[in-house]
Amino acid sequence: MKAIREIFPLLIEPRKVVITMHQKPDADAMGSALALFHFLSALGHSATVISPTNWAGWVDWMPGTKEVLDYEKNKNKADLILDETDWVFCLDFNIFHRTKTMTDKLKSISCTKILIDHHQEPDTPSFNYGISDTSKSSTCEMIYDFIVDSGNASIINTEISECIYAGVVADTGSFRFSSTHAGVHLLVADLKTRGLDHGKVHDKLFDNFLENRLRFTGNVLLNRMEVFYEYNTALIAIPKSDILKYNIKTGDTEGLVNYPLSIQGIKLVALVIDREEERKWSFRSKGEFDCNTFARKYFEGGGHYNASGGSSRSSLEKTVEEFKKAMIENNDLLK
Ligand code: 5GP
Ligand code: MN
Repeated sequence: MKAIREIFPLLIEPRKVVITMHQKPDADAMGSALALFHFLSALGHSATVISPTNWAGWVDWMPGTKEVLDYEKNKNKADLILDETDWVFCLDFNIFHRTKTMTDKLKSISCTKILIDHHQEPDTPSFNYGISDTSKSSTCEMIYDFIVDSGNASIINTEISECIYAGVVADTGSFRFSSTHAGVHLLVADLKTRGLDHGKVHDKLFDNFLENRLRFTGNVLLNRMEVFYEYNTALIAIPKSDILKYNIKTGDTEGLVNYPLSIQGIKLVALVIDREEERKWSFRSKGEFDCNTFARKYFEGGGHYNASGGSSRSSLEKTVEEFKKAMIENNDLLK
């Protein structure tokens, strides 16, 4: 994989570009894709954002989402665009299988593949150009760097600023995770001087839900959370019946995993949701517990040191038992 800066001189010539991200894109995945979309469009490229799956309603406010193609819903059209494209940018993931049904297509096309990502253990041989930097707070921060380092900071407008800020806020837990280095604040200061209305983005991200979601959260915290003080761990297991009862949609469970971190002494939080096709795990930790290694070892997943995810094909009860066994096995690390 060649360094990302080697792409900069090539930006001058207009190209057909596809931008994609991980399945069920969150604010960082969608924000980075759309920020890059607006940037490349301003430079005269013909860009298309293709999401591997649908996304949460609360990212719909981001400028440009109406033009994003959902691969599962528009496979034929998207495949044609992928066949014709010169470049494909892969954002906020680093191994093709995180795009679910798009995986085989991404592997098979022979265009130039470019990686911009901040997760651990990238599959670098699959990319022609790129940057993989786990010290970055978010992929949105990396898109900001990409724009600035390519000498095009003057292109950053309100649309780009809002998309970048949304991903930064989401992936830093509103500037509280350790990934929030000084450069993140400098980035925000720069966006502010360019006219960013940060309050608008917070409102769209955090005060933009329906009543059912708040009632669901109340039910989860009251009835679905177990705390294991001897292991400094909290576990939330959400059955299908809750999802149906509260009419929970893609993205409604975002952020739920962070609540138990507010309990004194809690070091690890695990949340599992009984989805149709799989049991989906999220892990969050504080300090010295490596969620990436834990998710890889026990739940076929990965991610970052303090935030990761994984999945299981077992029943909810069984995978919860597997988690409890894993927690006990990690006793020393959780002390
Ligand atoms: P979340 O819990 O918000 O779904 O994910 C937390 C972090 O772990 C995100 O950076 C996400 O990209 C990553 N992640 C979530 N699920 C998986 C997975 O199944 N495999 C890998 N490799 N990473 C995951
Ligand atoms: Mn991210």
